[in-house]
Amino acid sequence: LGPRMVKNAVFTYVRPEITHAPELLCVSPRALQDLGLRPEEAETEEFKHLVAGNNILTWDETTKEGIYPWAHCYGGYQFGQWAGQLGDGRAISLFEARNPESGTRYEIQLKGAGRTPYSRFADGKAVLRSSIREFVVSEYLNAIGIPTTRALALTLAPRSKVLRERMEPGAIVTRFAQSWVRLGTFDLPRMRGDRKLIRTLAGYTAEHVYGGWDKLPSRLPTGDGKTTAAEPATGIPEKTTEGEGLEEENRYARLYRAVIRRNAKTVAAWQAYGFMNGVLNTDNTSILGLSIDFGPFAFLDSFDPTYTPNHDDHMLRYAYRNQPTIIWWNLVRFGEALGELIGAGSKVDDTVFVEQGVKEEDADELVKRAEGIIERCGEEYKAVFLAEYKRLMSARLGLKTFKDSDFEILFSEILDWMEAYELDFHHAFRRLGYIGLRDLETEQGRKDTAGRFFKHADAPRQESESRERIGRWLGKWAERIREDWGDGAEQERQAQMAGVNPKFVPRSWILDELIDRVEKKGEREILNDITKLNLSPFEESWGWNEAEEERFCGDVPKYKGMMQCSCSS
Ligand code: AMP
Ligand code: MG
Ligand code: MG
Repeated sequence: LGPRMVKNAVFTYVRPEITHAPELLCVSPRALQDLGLRPEEAETEEFKHLVAGNNILTWDETTKEGIYPWAHCYGGYQFGQWAGQLGDGRAISLFEARNPESGTRYEIQLKGAGRTPYSRFADGKAVLRSSIREFVVSEYLNAIGIPTTRALALTLAPRSKVLRERMEPGAIVTRFAQSWVRLGTFDLPRMRGDRKLIRTLAGYTAEHVYGGWDKLPSRLPTGDGKTTAAEPATGIPEKTTEGEGLEEENRYARLYRAVIRRNAKTVAAWQAYGFMNGVLNTDNTSILGLSIDFGPFAFLDSFDPTYTPNHDDHMLRYAYRNQPTIIWWNLVRFGEALGELIGAGSKVDDTVFVEQGVKEEDADELVKRAEGIIERCGEEYKAVFLAEYKRLMSARLGLKTFKDSDFEILFSEILDWMEAYELDFHHAFRRLGYIGLRDLETEQGRKDTAGRFFKHADAPRQESESRERIGRWLGKWAERIREDWGDGAEQERQAQMAGVNPKFVPRSWILDELIDRVEKKGEREILNDITKLNLSPFEESWGWNEAEEERFCGDVPKYKGMMQCSCSS
């Protein structure tokens, strides 16, 4: 089973290592619910060993049940460079499970369960600190409505010592997703020239992941910008059966569009909520637009668009402000992988060139057409991104409608003053939601209210023009709120804002404290306590410990803001 190149395949059957004396540290109640499991079911020995990789549901010839675990094969562009075969070097999928009520199907996977053919020179293990981070952030992103892979359980492997910069305890995250296929899954057969495999993969993605070819959007943007402008709310109509561009649009182009639309929405949500993945390589970009592969991720503390949480990202490639561009860069690579398949249009039978190869005289034309389609999809990507970003920002600001002038006057300006005065991104939105319009009627009232956005320790800064600037913004904001809500309805608006502006955010300093307490101090209950905040981040209080709750939701402690994380995990 040694590390090796795996060709003509997208997965390999593997067996997780046995974990001796596993300790189940934490289970996500929300994950249990979404998988259709009852809380008691997570309390059994069977569950504990399942999530530790010790129970394999291998195929039984007599009952005709079971399955053998597998690891995905993929490649990827890392920091813009082709990196060759990567694959699941330490993740092993166990089986698929369907929630009996919702019907949603998930692939259950263990991260840190041992070596696979894709481990290259590494050990197939994950350390406790990165596992805690992934467990918390997966469930948090889901709780605030951002598409993401999920985490069911966190297991300590006490006998497994893992060497990184020092010896560290090993752990396993049991995670699940509707799909673990990445853009990198397509990059690898593309680079190997394996068209047949790309076509098979595209078919699998459309049918198995997206629920069928007929579920994909149809009609390409016309390329003159008109189609996108006409439909500002969603970018492009989800489904039409006639219209321009149709003869060029085959099912692969429709698949491509579905993938770019999903990713555009997700990256818009990252921007609106100040989340950075930190390593947006193509192997870390999901075919389903999920937030995936959590290494040196972070949430913003104060608003700084040039911030990257990745300590090794010297070029700031994966900084906050670059994420939308980088995801598009990755999606262009995906379009190139689909290549001739999307370029073939609806009039060419793709089986012919997949089986027999593209005829020399046709190749150029197919590629050119593919490029044209990718370019036009770039317009759609922008339109969908912007529509989603506007929708989320409007909601965060308490607006019911979006006016073009909001972008400059409200969105850009709030970010500008947050940046100028190094104010906390998340607190700004949450605190805005507490403000009553009556406090903003006079200039003095607006200036006083502006003080609420500053940290307690920053009081001197409030005296100058900063409070006036924020005060002026508050005045314009109040006008728009009145326009949308009329007078009254104050409580309703405040409740709505609290429902989209989280009070709790799992910031780097909180994750660090959590890791320290679990790993060094041997605490356990703190994981369940933080999970309460993490799964219901819009609440005002959680009935756990008032002082602690306020501390975790309060100002970032001195010297603990905007931390960076190394890739070792
Ligand atoms: P990442 O930086 O997490 O996206 O990982 C890049 C590649 O390295 C993926 O193929 C991972 O599976 C692999 N990898 C990372 N850490 C390990 C490890 N400890 N053992 C085996 N493979 C690893
Ligand atoms: Mg990865
Ligand atoms: Mg990773």
